[in-house]
Parts: sequence; structure tokens; C-alpha cells
Amino acid sequence: MGQFSGPADPAVDAHWTTHEHRKGFFTDTSICIGCKACEVACKEWNHNPRDGDLEITGMSYDNTQQLGASTWRHVAFIEQDSAHIEQARESGRKLVDLGMPTVRSSDRTTQDGRVGRSASGGRIEVSDAPPSDVTPPDTPEFRWLMASDVCKHCTHAGCLDVCPTGALFRSEFGSVVVQADVCNGCGTCVAGCPFGVIERRTDGTAAPKTRRGERKGEQPDVPNIGIAQKCTLCYDRLVDGEQPACAKTCPTTSIKFGDHADLVDTARDRVKQLHEQGLTEARLYGANELDGVGGTGSVFLLLDEPEVYGLPPDPRVPTADLPVMFKRAGLAAAGMLAAAAVAFLGGR
Ligand code: SF4
Ligand code: SF4
Ligand code: SF4
Repeated sequence: MGQFSGPADPAVDAHWTTHEHRKGFFTDTSICIGCKACEVACKEWNHNPRDGDLEITGMSYDNTQQLGASTWRHVAFIEQDSAHIEQARESGRKLVDLGMPTVRSSDRTTQDGRVGRSASGGRIEVSDAPPSDVTPPDTPEFRWLMASDVCKHCTHAGCLDVCPTGALFRSEFGSVVVQADVCNGCGTCVAGCPFGVIERRTDGTAAPKTRRGERKGEQPDVPNIGIAQKCTLCYDRLVDGEQPACAKTCPTTSIKFGDHADLVDTARDRVKQLHEQGLTEARLYGANELDGVGGTGSVFLLLDEPEVYGLPPDPRVPTADLPVMFKRAGLAAAGMLAAAAVAFLGGR
């Protein structure tokens, strides 16, 4: 690790002399249908045990609830009424006003397909095409926000930076991977992740030990108990030239996998397109390399503020402040040495 914050190519930063283009995800939540195929594919490929005891949570169709040691993809279902939809759209409009991608360009085709002029007096493109349907796809009264969350594979990854054993490593694809046979289960990484992603695995049940025999369904052996676990960006598939199981399975292409730089471009274009359709609430999450983690390998298109999806609005890697802290500690030490020297010389 060379850099603590700011834009960086993570594989170069980790001293890979030869490496691949940085790989990542663009998860477009606007086209997720909540089928959870990604969750299932991940569990199947990685042989991850089930969570909990097959309980219904009462939280819409979300019975997985959150990412965890055995759930490396989690599809959230967030129900919103018309008031929340308008609130989201309004908060998006404010972002647009603050210099995010523009809602409409001045040379946009008029909706009735005739010649027109922009507000600034410029000529608007003429078209014989029928007016495009700009009605948002939801009913005005209700919508579900469905979003498939995953490890962010941060540019500056708190989990990796604080791991004392080297169990977490930066791959040649720029992703962050846990080596289960090196992890000693100390849990330092859990506190180091600003997204609450990585977790130590329990035996898969929240029930007291006395109730273990009473659990519903099959209870296969749970591997890696006590070990920190999270998404590997399917490292074992990537080295064989395959794409991650979750992206391959997603039927709507909500999860797109590829070169990180291309995905960010695609994501920006998609936000622009949604804004043109009137969905001003569309915004990107993780695409800003000047944020507190240097941007993330997993980029998301959200339809409301990050907090609504349970994502931190301003994530910050704990080690970002290390240079400043070392500088201050150095100054304090120098000050103490100077004071001791003055006291010693004054005493003589
Ligand atoms: S999201 Fe958390 S677990 Fe994933 S790479 Fe970033 S710090 Fe590590
Ligand atoms: S990349 Fe692989 S490990 Fe990560 S969520 Fe997708 S299927 Fe699971
Ligand atoms: S597979 Fe795709 S559409 Fe289905 S829940 Fe996952 S991200 Fe959404």
C-alpha cells in the first residue's frame, strides 16, 4: 500500500508490476426486478451456508436483511409511497443544480417533434420521430426500490489496510480478497470497513446452542466459522477468464461486470438518460474518486439518497488520516524533546 487516500489504481498501489485493467461492477438499480438470482448464484458458487433459520422478517420481500459473512450479495426491497418518490426526485434535482450531469441539453429534440428554440434562443433539433415516452416506469403512488448490494472493493480498503495478518490481499484485478487459511479471526477488518460489509462467520444461526437441533430444514456443515468472509469478486472465476457468478446470472443486466473505467462511463450515460426521462432522483454512488475511499470498484446507480439503501453517504477509510496523525505525533514528540532539552539545559 502506497497511498492512503485520493485517486489511485489499486493494483499499481499494491505494487503489482504486471496487472489487469481494474475490474468492477456497475449495479444499475433502476432495472433490478428483485428476483434475487444474484444472491442464489453467489451462494451456490461459493458454497456459502444459509443465514438464520428461514424466518420471514416482515420487511417487504427482504428476508436476507443485510450483507454478511454468508451473504455476499444482498438484494434490498424498499417500499416508497408518492411522498417519498417526490422527496427522492426533489433531492436529485438539488444534486443536478449542484453541477451533476444536466437534465436536458439545449439542442434536445422537442417532444412534439417540431422545430423549437432553447431557452437561450438557440435552434432546437428538428425531427419527424414520434414524441418519446418520458413517463417514469412506476405508478405515481407506489414503487419498490430494489438494489443488489455487494462489497465495494474500495480503492483504499479499510479492511485490508488494518488487517494484521495479511489475510486480505489486493488482487491483480484491483479487487480485495480474503484468504481464509491465513485469517486468524481477530475481527480488526470488521471495524475497518466503512460500509459494514465484512463479517466473521458464525455457525449460521442466531438461535441459542440449545435450540440447534431444532432448526428447520437441512443443516449442512458450516465452513470457516470465526473467519472473516466477504465477496471475492469471484477471484477464482476471474483468473480463469470467467465473469462473476452474480453478474452472469442477473437476467436484466442490472449487474454489469467489466473494466472499471468503462463501467463508470456507462453509469454516467445511464444517469443522463434517466434524467432526460424525468427521473431526476437517479444518481451515482462510488464513482467519485475524490471521496473518502478514493472511489469504489463497485459503482451503483441509485434512485434515492444512499441512506435510504442503508449505504453511508460519505464513507471514509479509517487510514485516510494517518499521514496527518503521524505528522501531529511527530510534532508533539519534537515538542516534548525540545522541552526536555530546555529543562535539562536550564537546570544546569
Ligand atoms: S467495502 Fe469494506 S470489505 Fe469491501 S473492500 Fe471496502 S473496506 Fe473492504
Ligand atoms: S462477485 Fe462472486 S463472490 Fe462477489 S457477490 Fe458476485 S458471485 Fe458472490
Ligand atoms: S439478479 Fe439482477 S434483477 Fe435479479 S435481483 Fe439480482 S440484480 Fe436484481
